[in-house]
Amino acid sequence: MARILVTGALGQIGSELVPALRQRYGVDNVVATDLKALQPSGAAALAPDDHLDCTEPNQLHEAVRRYDIDSIYHLAALLSASAEAAPQLAWSVNMSGLYNVLEVARAYGCQVFFPSSIGAFGPDTQRDMTPQVAVQRPTTIYGITKVAGELLCDYYASRFGIDTRGLRLPGLISYVAAPGGGTTDYAVEMFYHAIRYGRYTCFLSADTRLDMAYMPDAITGMVDLMAADASRLRYRNAYNITAMSVTPEDIAAAIRKHIPGFEIDYDVDPVRQAIADSWPRSLDDSAAHADWDWAPRYDLDAMTKDMLARLTEKLK
Ligand code: NAD
Repeated sequence: MARILVTGALGQIGSELVPALRQRYGVDNVVATDLKALQPSGAAALAPDDHLDCTEPNQLHEAVRRYDIDSIYHLAALLSASAEAAPQLAWSVNMSGLYNVLEVARAYGCQVFFPSSIGAFGPDTQRDMTPQVAVQRPTTIYGITKVAGELLCDYYASRFGIDTRGLRLPGLISYVAAPGGGTTDYAVEMFYHAIRYGRYTCFLSADTRLDMAYMPDAITGMVDLMAADASRLRYRNAYNITAMSVTPEDIAAAIRKHIPGFEIDYDVDPVRQAIADSWPRSLDDSAAHADWDWAPRYDLDAMTKDMLARLTEKLK
């Protein structure tokens, strides 16, 4: 039975990944950790729980040793907009954190999941149907840490035989926890504002096209990739995945099918717009389909229907 450690477990992804892992592998086999204080009886209901700063190698060694961990989902990071506001801190958390995780994995023979991002591409990348293997010259500190992270995962796999696996995640839409300072946060905010106020002012322009996925698909993807037959995996850095390639206007139109009076206007934030303009408009995720059977269940309409229903219930 797997014994799993999750770093950055209180974030947008960890809040849903930890319960999913606990359902599959048992509560006691999943150790949720974060820099923020974990509250055993809090919203995320994480237990057993631990404070763990991934930039402190001793804390990682201690957790892996104490809980006899054999698999690490390393979620702790600064996201794109937060990283751009604090580039030095982003380098430290995103790079030292991953390095420490890989080193502890080397010492104890752990499997490692690394979440890369569409931010690992840049303006020189082919922007439509971006292939699995493409030019990666990002212009953001976030993207730079993600490319370096992908390369480091590849290196630890080939040099030390560590079982590293990763996804280039698109923007993730979810209702459990708030997003943590990314460029695609607008997509989540739009649903909250649609239900609460019937209107939303978007910080990206109407026609900014980016890849997205609904959180349940992303969680299934992470767990399936980690359980996949290693002999089928051609890539140890990160696989492109996507479920939809959409603009703010597309999401607003999908919401209007359920909330007819919903209005959207635009007040573009130049920093986040520049980040979005440097990213792919759509990804080719055929390698993920071929190698470990990636098959998202939610397209734009299915995601919108579920998201509005769940969020309406949550906001009652
Ligand atoms: P988030 O910002 O919601 O959560 C990150 C968590 O990491 C936070 O709870 C924070 O307290 C914690 N953290 C920060 N510094 C830490 C440290 N030094 N040690 C331990 N924990 C620390 O992020 P998320 O959306 O859950 O993303 C998780 C991972 O997935 C990140 O690597 C991110 O780059 C990647 N990703 C996310 C998205 C998305 O849309 N959410 C898209 C692509 C990639």
